[in-house]
Amino acid sequence: MTPKVVRQIAELREEIAAYRRAHAASAQVGLVPTMGYLHEGHASLIRRSAEENGLTVLSIFVNPIQFGPNEDFDRYPRDEERDLKVAAEAGANLVFLPSVTEMYPDKPRTTVSVSGVTERLCGASRPGHFDGVATVVSKLFHIVQPDRAYFGLKDAQQVSVIARMTEDLNFPVDIVPCPIVREQDGLALSSRNVYLNPEERRQALILSQTLSQVAGWIEDGMSEAELTVRIRGRIRSQPLADIEYVEVATYPELGHPPADRPLRESREPLLVALAVRFGKTRLIDNVLLFPSEVK
Ligand code: AMP
Repeated sequence: MTPKVVRQIAELREEIAAYRRAHAASAQVGLVPTMGYLHEGHASLIRRSAEENGLTVLSIFVNPIQFGPNEDFDRYPRDEERDLKVAAEAGANLVFLPSVTEMYPDKPRTTVSVSGVTERLCGASRPGHFDGVATVVSKLFHIVQPDRAYFGLKDAQQVSVIARMTEDLNFPVDIVPCPIVREQDGLALSSRNVYLNPEERRQALILSQTLSQVAGWIEDGMSEAELTVRIRGRIRSQPLADIEYVEVATYPELGHPPADRPLRESREPLLVALAVRFGKTRLIDNVLLFPSEVK
């Protein structure tokens, strides 16, 4: 069924309230926050929400406050018509498509800032980014008041930040992390993949190819330092790859694993995450390994 498109916060609240009134105690609302230009990764989140909730709210909002001054806010890809088709096929019931002034009528003076889990990885290379994410997600949580919210592990640090915020601020929302969806050849789906020219697209395969070997290298006994050197070396084999970071972190705290032991002895899950530019396009990818998977 075609989802209803809502652009005003007040109308969205009314629609959700009407659903809750009609379904009383059995009402379950799922929220899938996105920036649009939807692909199969987004669709997997919407489908999961539609399976687990009676009402799925998909938000599409390119959030200006999570972009740095020299990032791609103005040229971020947008295609409302196609997004509505994907949303309908995946089972969204309401699509919230607010304008920037609807979400930020004034310059926001209240922001949400999560410490600790934002220190490394994208938090280090994109200052202010996660304040923008935490602020918009907390606004969406207040507006929609979902029972569950769905986030992709493609942005594993974002999942950590949102889970931490939800716990610290007592949002009554279950955070549901969802697996990374990839192209057949391994490239992680991303709205930004459309920026890649054919040669960049070909060379970008090095990211998933390298990450797919990480579990084996950890099993062989590598330390954090050895592993990052190995990954960097592999990625540099592609001349267009410009590495922003390659990091190994405990998950979900995102601290450093103990330096005096091989990674395979880690008692916590390990996140191996990277950000690499191909031309003007910044790609991120990661692999999340549980201790039982590397022994
Ligand atoms: P975005 O529109 O890029 O902000 O992403 C919206 C949501 O979709 C986030 O929770 C992302 O982690 C998730 N997502 C994006 N790409 C993928 C993917 N390839 N697989 C799974 N989830 C994804």
